[in-house]
Amino acid sequence: MSDVSVRPASGVAFDAEAEVLIIGAGAAGLVAALAAREAGAEPVVMERDAVPRGSTALSAGLVPAAGTRWQRAANIDDDPNRFAADILRKTKGRADRTVLALATQGAADALHWLADRHGLPFLFANDVVYPGHSVRRMHGLPTRSGQELVDRLRAAAEAAEVPILTEAAARTLFLAEDGRTIAGVGLVRPDGTEERIACRALVLACNGYGGNRELVRRHIPELADALWFGHDGNRGEAVLWGEALGGELRHLSGHQGHGNVAHPHGVLITWTTIMLGGIQINAEGERFSDETDGYSEQAARVLAQPGGFAWTVFDERIAQAARAFADYRAAEAAGAILRADTLEALEVLLRLPPGRLAATLAACRGRDRFGRDWSATPSLHPPYCAVRVTGALFHTQGGLAIDAACRVLRRGGGVFRNLFAAGGAAVGVSGPEASGYLSGNGLLTAIVLGRAAGRAAALRARGMGTDERSERGT
Ligand SMILES: Cc1cc2nc3c(=O)[nH]c(=O)nc-3n(C[C@H](O)[C@H](O)[C@H](O)COP(=O)(O)OP(=O)(O)OC[C@H]3O[C@@H](n4cnc5c(N)ncnc54)[C@H](O)[C@@H]3O)c2cc1C
Repeated sequence: MSDVSVRPASGVAFDAEAEVLIIGAGAAGLVAALAAREAGAEPVVMERDAVPRGSTALSAGLVPAAGTRWQRAANIDDDPNRFAADILRKTKGRADRTVLALATQGAADALHWLADRHGLPFLFANDVVYPGHSVRRMHGLPTRSGQELVDRLRAAAEAAEVPILTEAAARTLFLAEDGRTIAGVGLVRPDGTEERIACRALVLACNGYGGNRELVRRHIPELADALWFGHDGNRGEAVLWGEALGGELRHLSGHQGHGNVAHPHGVLITWTTIMLGGIQINAEGERFSDETDGYSEQAARVLAQPGGFAWTVFDERIAQAARAFADYRAAEAAGAILRADTLEALEVLLRLPPGRLAATLAACRGRDRFGRDWSATPSLHPPYCAVRVTGALFHTQGGLAIDAACRVLRRGGGVFRNLFAAGGAAVGVSGPEASGYLSGNGLLTAIVLGRAAGRAAALRARGMGTDERSERGT
């Protein structure tokens, strides 16, 4: 990405001015725009694509939140401290504490606000406990698709009369003489025309660097050749601008992988297939892990198997539950799901030695040698199902370090005066390892940090959000 740069603002003539400029129209950027508007500012969103989608549109759109009214209606006892404790357990205590507090404390309120103020009809996903969550706390829209989420957020932004400049790729940040204030952004149109927009506050909501092979190779070498399953627009500008500005970057090796992508069909197979009792075996018919640790760390484990693939084996009971997900139905329609009435027939389909699968399943009892607890899990019954899967990179979780107002921190102390980061552009709550990713950590920080950043950027733009002490870097 050599065309991304930071340049001095002195002498630069701007074509237009925005109070709050937001780069990226995924969940983080659109939520930031709604919050900035509500706080009294005039936000402008710039988006490289012709239609806002981002990784948000590729996601299942499931957002974790603790203490929501939907949980209460389902008699789920939960609160932000419990949520934070789950994240800390998954990250072995290495989650970024500032973002953790913001995200877990603000999630329920953010979803209530999106539902009540902007009409997003969230429902409680009460069907499964996702790995690492001690209670059910996922919320999604009726179709359980991120496409619906981004479409509804865009409609809400349009209803709030937020201008969204599409086909506008941000390329240059113009830095004021103080070295701590962004004066504006240079963007490029598809025909090569350049425009410059001045701003009073800038929110980076352009996600992480999963679509930038060079950065992936540098920071996540174990997935350097993995399937990239996120949006191609995740090109790492936040990291590159951060490096050029002298911003503090954290946990760049952190990411969400996924060890259950149908291969070669390239369709996500819901982890419900595992959590309800399925297993993963390699080409020799052997299990190689406790699959319930989480789908994120499972990506590298699957890629490390002979041929870089695994079989996910489950049964019709589990398939029925998985059909709640559009992706699973698409995988079935594409012929990715193999079915057999007996284990012997399935072994033939998977080209396994006779008796190997039966032996592997027979060992799934009590607490097995990988530590998986089978005491409350029904065993598999015919008809059986299997799908060939590989490991993929979904999104990166490292990024710009921020303070409690989502202002980007400078390396060596202090903050940038009017630069904010949210969603995948900011450091997440997953720590530096794939195993730290708890389901939903992606949209959690997109929505909650997006709201906080939009509000803080609006206050800054209106001259009401200054904290001189932290600006001086004390
Ligand atoms: C297959 C898949 C499933 C997932 N499922 C879930 C899930 O169920 N729950 C969950 O919490 N997370 C999930 N995630 C992760 C989640 O999608 C992301 O963490 C989240 O969408 C990030 O939101 P964002 O707004 O930061 O980024 P994005 O949605 O990627 O939006 C960033 C936008 O910025 C634009 N952009 C980038 N650079 C520029 C530039 N220079 N100029 C202008 N525009 C630019 C991009 O085009 C893009 O539209 C999933 C991810 C994938 C890939």
